[in-house]
This record gives sequence, C-alpha cells and structure tokens, in this order.
Amino acid sequence: MERVFIALGSNLGNRQDNLNRALAALAATVAITARSSVYETDPAYVLDQPSFLNMVVAGDTALPARSLLSELKRIEVDIGRVPTRRNGPRVIDLDILYYGNQVIETGRLVVPHPRLSERLFVLEPLAEIAPDMRHPGSDLTARAMLERLREGE
Ligand code: ADP
Ligand code: MG
Repeated sequence: MERVFIALGSNLGNRQDNLNRALAALAATVAITARSSVYETDPAYVLDQPSFLNMVVAGDTALPARSLLSELKRIEVDIGRVPTRRNGPRVIDLDILYYGNQVIETGRLVVPHPRLSERLFVLEPLAEIAPDMRHPGSDLTARAMLERLREGE
C-alpha cells in the first residue's frame, strides 16, 4: 500500500457533480483517508475560460503508480473529458501529486507532480489536509511551499 495524493479540477459542466463522480469512481481503487474543501479558483495559464473547482484528496492504494495513472485517465474519459488544448477547459482533471515518497520520472508519469509548487490551486487544498507532508525532492512541507508561493506573488 502507498499513500497517494491526488488533485482534482473541473471547469466545465456541473463542476461539483464532476468532482463527486470522480471521487466515487476513485474509491474503487483508492481508500480515501482525507479530502480538502473545494476551492473555486481563477484559471491559470489559459485565462479565457471558466473558473475551476479544485480539491485534493489523500488515500491508500495497492495500485502501482503507472496503473493508478491509467485508472485516473480512464475515469477522466468516463466522466466525459475530451482532448483540448494544454491547460484548457476540462470536465475533469486528475493528477497524481505524490505517490508515497517515491520520485518517478518516466515519459508518461512524473511524480511528484512537476508544477505542484507553483500552483496555488494545488498547494492550498494540499496544505489544508497535509500541512507537514514533505516534498520528496525539495524536502519542503506543503505549508512552506504555500508560504513561499504567496510571498513571491
Ligand atoms: P495537465 O494535467 O498537465 O493539464 P493532462 O491531464 O492532459 O494535462 O495530462 C497530460 C499528461 O501528463 C498525461 O497524459 C500523463 O501521461 C502526464 N503526466 C505526467 N505526470 C503526471 C502526473 N503526476 N499526474 C497526472 N498526469 C501526469
Ligand atoms: Mg492532468
């Protein structure tokens, strides 16, 4: 079993419903141990799109990391995600933030998520449920990364 952290985001359709459906689907393979509040956030990168609902959940899974990624992709398609431009609008986005303390860098999967420390919409919910969890690369806690990002703004 590994403790995993997964970020959820939605900015199309019934956003709360999309999050709920993703959580229900996720529960089949990840035993959810904590879930953050839902945060409404302005879009980043591509600005001319609806605002997002974002949250982060923690849970335990027996799936290897690459299988977990496949499962997340399957759930995204199942909920109705269709390919759009990078960082564009999506019904649901499911990203692996942490997979235990593992550092993984394959073509398909990079963990910890490489843009985690620059995203307020990830760090706020992450720091809410796991403020003292350390990034296996930088060794910074979620709280420290959040403070850094806020100071830099
Ligand atoms: P993004 O989440 O960056 O907006 P996508 O959800 O379309 O974009 O993901 C693009 C690709 O990122 C996926 O096909 C997946 O193979 C890859 N990827 C690499 N690392 C991760 C990770 N930690 N979590 C989720 N996807 C990842
Ligand atoms: Mg993604």
